[in-house]
Amino acid sequence: MPKNTLLIVPKKRLDELDEAYALAKTAGYEIVSLITTRYHKPNIIKEGKLKEIKKEVEGKNIETIIFYNEFTPVTYYKLYKIARVELLDKPLLILNIFSRHAGSKEAKLQIELAKIRHEIPIVREFVRRQKLGELPGFLGPGKYAIDEYLALLRRREHQIKLKLEELKKRKKSELLRRKNLGLPHIVITGYTCAGKTTLFNSLVSENKRTGEEYFTTISPKAKGALLHDSFKVIFSDTVGFIRGIPPYIIEAFYATLQEVVFSDLIILVVDASEPIRTINEKLQESLSILDKIGAISIPLFIVLNKIDLIASDELSKALDVVNSIRVEHNNIVDILPMSALRSSDIDTLRRRLWSFFQNTRKSMFTD
Ligand code: GDP
Ligand code: MG
Repeated sequence: MPKNTLLIVPKKRLDELDEAYALAKTAGYEIVSLITTRYHKPNIIKEGKLKEIKKEVEGKNIETIIFYNEFTPVTYYKLYKIARVELLDKPLLILNIFSRHAGSKEAKLQIELAKIRHEIPIVREFVRRQKLGELPGFLGPGKYAIDEYLALLRRREHQIKLKLEELKKRKKSELLRRKNLGLPHIVITGYTCAGKTTLFNSLVSENKRTGEEYFTTISPKAKGALLHDSFKVIFSDTVGFIRGIPPYIIEAFYATLQEVVFSDLIILVVDASEPIRTINEKLQESLSILDKIGAISIPLFIVLNKIDLIASDELSKALDVVNSIRVEHNNIVDILPMSALRSSDIDTLRRRLWSFFQNTRKSMFTD
């Protein structure tokens, strides 16, 4: 059941509203109420606004508040005082989504580490307020309960760092194990709302014959499917790219994308119905992320999605952008304008993917 959610958005982020709704939905929250906060100093919520929020929480049975910005410890504290519901800001919402995609131990640890780093300054604020006598009895009866909790978080942070260092040394063997699954692995990536999940669901829907549990060792979102006759591949729906990821969760982001690095082919889904400038920016940024995570030399299949929404001259502009990028990136193996909502286009995509594997004929795929 999706949770009744109040979304608080600073006015200067109103152009990101679609993304905020999409991310909330992906993480299992249903936005039933929206409150905007002022344009300047968006991290500060004033008293009048707090009253409005409190009223909304009580009147609409709100279970979660998502603040589409970053909590300062004081903002968090103030929201906590007026509404004892689940409190998330944008980084926590994103980490929540990462958790759903994280398959590897490293990704899980990086996510936990980022959450702890997010939490420590907030808990410190609670310690301060408790010492000022503003928070008697918070977190149970003991006077020092919050101090103890803070110490616990720091110990856990230290432990995770040690484990991560240890894991780094073992990474190579993990790579080999994955390759040994023997099936070509195709990951679907791209920005939020591009249509990754829609495409993934269509590609894997007709295939109930494959043992799904087996593939979840690669990623919780991996499924086997037939491309052609008995040619089986594994598809993964990745967490994708999200704009404005704060620096302290970037490691968790890269770790969550690790399955991309182990893949045999990347499908990059681009929303062709966006303004041409956005298409260009997102394409450049996607390539730069792939470069950073060490996936730039993996064959890249570009899907120009949602062409049902655009006119043919807009499509040719979008194609021009992709083609000009292709000149500099020889790992781009194919470009397909399509609509993930049309099953005939899905069939075309399957054929083109199949012919890619036919042409490359990597020795590990031949049986
Ligand atoms: P994701 O965030 O990349 O996983 O995107 P989703 O698959 O959740 O799709 C985002 C929205 O775009 C949904 O409302 C889809 O129904 C819609 N969508 C996806 N593909 C197409 C398409 O080809 N045409 C149109 N018109 N809408 C699409
Ligand atoms: Mg999705």
